[in-house]
Amino acid sequence: MRQYKSWNEVPDNLVSKTKLKTMKLVPNEIRATVYQRKNNVYINLYDVSEAKKRKEPTERQLKAIEKAREALIAKKTCPKCKGLLPYILDGGLCEICIEQEWMKKQSERASKMCKDWMVNKEKYLILDTETTGLGNDDEIIELGIINLNGQTIFHSTFKPSKPIEGAASEVHGLTDEMLQDCPLWPIKWQEIQKVISNKTLLIFNSNFDIRMIERTNCKYNIESILPVSICVMETYAKYAESYYYNGKLQWISLQRAIDYEGINIVQQHTAVDDCILTLKLINVMANNISA
Ligand SMILES: [Zn+2]
Repeated sequence: MRQYKSWNEVPDNLVSKTKLKTMKLVPNEIRATVYQRKNNVYINLYDVSEAKKRKEPTERQLKAIEKAREALIAKKTCPKCKGLLPYILDGGLCEICIEQEWMKKQSERASKMCKDWMVNKEKYLILDTETTGLGNDDEIIELGIINLNGQTIFHSTFKPSKPIEGAASEVHGLTDEMLQDCPLWPIKWQEIQKVISNKTLLIFNSNFDIRMIERTNCKYNIESILPVSICVMETYAKYAESYYYNGKLQWISLQRAIDYEGINIVQQHTAVDDCILTLKLINVMANNISA
């Protein structure tokens, strides 16, 4: 095979593969090579007269290419939000839609739960407490329990064993003076326990109230045997779809939940009133079951 030492020697009918391509020709057999000093390589040369015209795709082929392209786009498109993703979903939903679907399911579940509470009212009680403060050493100074018909089942204020914190007084309006003649917690505990036994307690932010009951009992050396409790704040967060996808609870105040649901009441922060508000919230959730 002929080897040319430079492009100057190459006759016009011999060209490179790249050149053929620009002429829309398909290379046939290699007829010669030419030395390219620039990158120290030999380049294959083809005879233009031997090269065949490259076939243009037919109408049918073009259609098939377009169809394949559309099929790929469809596989990358979320069927719900119609968003185009950089990867193949194969009929599944995109991350955002999966999260939304999950939140929606949580919300429906919360509604169903509330509906179930309202249908089986006799199994449940709503409880709320007011305390001397929010710390480890704080204790309950007011406890309210209502049934799901809104009737007060238990209510008492208690004389605390420590002064009420100023910030706490500002919230619930209870002062040490007001509670001077109230019974001590242990005097009422038996009665409370009797009321709540065999019931499931529905509590807005149950972690707080349960902890406070346990701490107050602990102060008086009483053993806390508490029934099952369900956090209405958690249920509401799920209902309002503000429960984080990672499963963490987003804290929300009773007042904010009430405002959010368009219930035009200002929270009084007295135990029974807060129970009533919690019941209102449960009713809103229970009555909002989508078919
Ligand atoms: Zn989507």
